[in-house]
Amino acid sequence: MKITEVRAHRLEAPLSEPFSYARARYGTRAAMIVEIVTDEGLTGWGECYGPASLTAAAVEAFRPQLLGEDPLRTDWLWQEIYARFRDHGQKGVVIQGLSGVDIALWDLKGKKLGLPIHRLMGGPLRSEVRAYATGLYRRDEGDPIAYLAEEASAYVEAGFGAVKLKVGFGVEEDAAVTAALREAIGPKAGLMIDANHAYDSISAIRLARKVEHLDIGWFEEPVPPEDLAGYRAVRAATSIPVAGGECEFTRYGFREVLTSGSIDILQPDTCAAGGLSEAKKIADMSIAFGVRYVPHVWGTGIATAAALQLLAVLPATPSALRPVEPMLELDQTQHPVRDALLVDPIRHQRGVVSVPQGPGLGIEVDRAALDHFAVR
Ligand code: CA
Repeated sequence: MKITEVRAHRLEAPLSEPFSYARARYGTRAAMIVEIVTDEGLTGWGECYGPASLTAAAVEAFRPQLLGEDPLRTDWLWQEIYARFRDHGQKGVVIQGLSGVDIALWDLKGKKLGLPIHRLMGGPLRSEVRAYATGLYRRDEGDPIAYLAEEASAYVEAGFGAVKLKVGFGVEEDAAVTAALREAIGPKAGLMIDANHAYDSISAIRLARKVEHLDIGWFEEPVPPEDLAGYRAVRAATSIPVAGGECEFTRYGFREVLTSGSIDILQPDTCAAGGLSEAKKIADMSIAFGVRYVPHVWGTGIATAAALQLLAVLPATPSALRPVEPMLELDQTQHPVRDALLVDPIRHQRGVVSVPQGPGLGIEVDRAALDHFAVR
C-alpha cells in the first residue's frame, strides 16, 4: 500500500453564542482535518489542534515526504518528518501538523488490518470511558455566577460525574464563581478549574488557597507552559493537584515536565503532542514517573475518537481493585463542525462514552460536512 494523496482541510463555522475563556473570545470554531489517501482506495483521517492556517501549511510541507511511502510505517514516517523539521519546529505547529498526519496513518493501519487502533496498541484495557464536561465559559451577557451554576447543574443532571470551570478572570471573582459552582453541584460531583495559563504563580497560588477547601479535582494550566518553576511553586503551595500539558510537545518536551516534577496530572493533546504514536510513548513515560495522564481534547469527533483509542490502552496506575481510571475530556460548548463532521457523532450516555470498535479510529467522516464548512 502506498500513499497517493495528502490533503489538509480547513473548516470553520460561526457561533450563534460567542464565548470567552481567560485569554480570548471565540466567535467562530475552526478545525484542521488531515486526509491521507492510498493506492488501495483506503482513506485515513486525522486532526490537528492549533491554528488551522499554520497546521495546514505544516501538513502541506510534509506532503513530499509522504507521497509514495508505505503508510503502515508509522514510527519510521514520524521519525523522518520530525528529523527533517527538527531545526525549525521541535514544538508548536510543526508537531501539531505531524500529529494529524500520524493519527491519519493509524486510521489507515487499522482499516488495512480490519482492527480498531487500540487493538494494534495492545488493548483494550477498557471499552468505555467516563467523561468529564468541559464548558462553563463566559458569555457576552448575564451574571456568570447564575448562568455558570445553572450550566454546571445541567451537566451533573445529564450524568457527568465531573465538570471543569474556566477561571483566570481575577482571583476574587474566580473564587466566588468556584464556590457557587460547588454549592450548585453538591459535594459528590468532581469540580476542576482551568486558568488557561492566564495567571502568574502569585495569582495562581492566591486562587488555589481560596478554593482548595472546595475539593477541587485539579488546577489546570495555572501559569504559562514555559514557567516550570511557576508550576512547581503552585504545586508546593496547594493541596490541589496541578495539571497541564496541552501546550507541550513530544517525548522530549514532556521529559522536561516529568523530570522537573512540575505537574501531577499530564494532559497531552493527541492532536498536538505528536499524534497517537507519540502520545503512547508520553503515556508510558508518565507511568514511569508516577504521574497521572488525562488527555486534553478540543476538536471534532476525529480528535475525540483519537483520544478514545488512546484511553482504551492507558493503564489505571497503580493497579488496584478500585483504581483511579483516566477520563475523557468532552467539550460541551457549541461547535457546528464537530456536530456535523461524523456520520455517527460520538455521544455520552450518562457521562460514559464507548470506545469506537470499528477499524482504525472507528468513525466515518461526512464528506458533505467537509465541503459545507470548508474555508475557501
Ligand atoms: Ca485547558
